[in-house]
Amino acid sequence: VGAEVVVVGSANVDLVLPVQRIPRPGETVLATGLTRGPGGKGANQAVASARAGASTAFVAALGDDDGGALLRAALAEAGVDLSLLQISQAPTGTAIITVDGAGENAITVAPSANATLRLTPAARSAVAGAKIVLSQLEIGFGTVQAAAEASAYFILNAAPAAELTDELLGQVDLLVVNETEAEAVAGTKLSALLDRVPAAVVTLGAEGALILTRDAAEVRVPAVPVEVVDTTAAGDTFCGVLAATLAATSTTASDLTNAVRRATVAASLSVQTAGAIPSVPHGESIDARCAEVYL
Ligand code: ATP
Repeated sequence: VGAEVVVVGSANVDLVLPVQRIPRPGETVLATGLTRGPGGKGANQAVASARAGASTAFVAALGDDDGGALLRAALAEAGVDLSLLQISQAPTGTAIITVDGAGENAITVAPSANATLRLTPAARSAVAGAKIVLSQLEIGFGTVQAAAEASAYFILNAAPAAELTDELLGQVDLLVVNETEAEAVAGTKLSALLDRVPAAVVTLGAEGALILTRDAAEVRVPAVPVEVVDTTAAGDTFCGVLAATLAATSTTASDLTNAVRRATVAASLSVQTAGAIPSVPHGESIDARCAEVYL
């Protein structure tokens, strides 16, 4: 394949149900609408990496169904290399996303095909040849571990939040987590992340991001102040653009800071547009905004 960035992750059909109030256990509520679109952390991050300018291949498992076709079309439109997609006997993964009037959400994911994803020999060789490999936790741990072991530089976005083994974290070059996920990995003290991985980026929503590395001082990158429309896929945009930018530069501490700045600008653009994949910005708009923000 020869892609600079390989994303090993999930692809889901997102069913978004707007409601006045997220139902309590045992309760039924009526949604005011229903939209169906391509999503999943892996797919969103692969699209973000490709749109940011990196040649990007996606290792994922889709069902042989409408959802799989919906995802293929969206990934192809973004220029993602689809040659490593696996067709599963199981249906395409599905996320049911209930969103209330205040923008609060509750999400349930059926992994389905995502749980069947394996690192085939072809996928392993693409992973081994990539500059940057990026994974998340919506697929099986065994597959994440196999990708980590085969990678030259492995970025783990440890989402959704989970406790992780030393065996896996020992293979991670850069951990990207929000505050909840950071706590699941190393407790409330963010600096404790460095006891487990050599470098970490903690995203802090409207507060921006914090870069922690064992061999350089802590760096805080402020968020770009914007009017928030929908934060869906802000974190995924951040991860995909970070990976693409590191692939185009290097992984030294100063290039890491610059890549986090570009990812922060990209994420600020994504929160200004509704949806997951539709809100992921292209490289030209990211760089135009970077030039305005970091004169
Ligand atoms: P999500 O699950 O909503 O995709 P997350 O919890 O993984 O996001 P966050 O830390 O909330 O991650 O957001 C990721 C990045 O998006 C932040 O580091 C920041 O750069 C940007 N961002 C998020 N919220 C805002 C905001 N309100 N204004 C500007 N930038 C934001």
